[in-house]
Amino acid sequence: MGKRYLCDYCHKSLVAAPSVVRTHQRGLLHQQLVQEHYQQCKDPDVILAEEALKKPCLRFANGSCSFGGLCRYSHYSNEELDNLRRAVAVTKANSGSVPQPPPEGLCQELQRLRPPGLAVSYNADGETSLFPWKYNVAFDKYALPPSLKRMDDDDFSFPCNPEWGLG
Ligand SMILES: [Zn+2]
Ligand SMILES: [Zn+2]
Repeated sequence: MGKRYLCDYCHKSLVAAPSVVRTHQRGLLHQQLVQEHYQQCKDPDVILAEEALKKPCLRFANGSCSFGGLCRYSHYSNEELDNLRRAVAVTKANSGSVPQPPPEGLCQELQRLRPPGLAVSYNADGETSLFPWKYNVAFDKYALPPSLKRMDDDDFSFPCNPEWGLG
């Protein structure tokens, strides 16, 4: 048996002839595996920037996309993208660009930066509620625990959480 070439990406052993190796490296499956390998090494903010330019892959959603890492549509679910965003926010908060105060510090900061006035909220029936506090936008820059985070309308869009037993 002559010399063998082992492709690290495909875990495949080939005859170590330049033409054979070159043909293998041009192969679609090989290129997909190379691409997927480098995707794992990318920073989350790079992935987010790239995926923001892509439309979701409908075939991938059906489990029928054969392009793998070479697909020009996005294979990331909203949940995966949210996780990446969270990872980016945590990295930024820890990177020193925005020093994250310890919990007591956060509380003092919350008092110090408290916006003046009352928060007013109306429901669909026109009932008015006044809250003695407002969400503090100064806090958007911190990676906050969930209880302190700003809530979006989306946070209330699920019809019912079955775990709460209110079926
Ligand atoms: Zn290969
Ligand atoms: Zn695809």
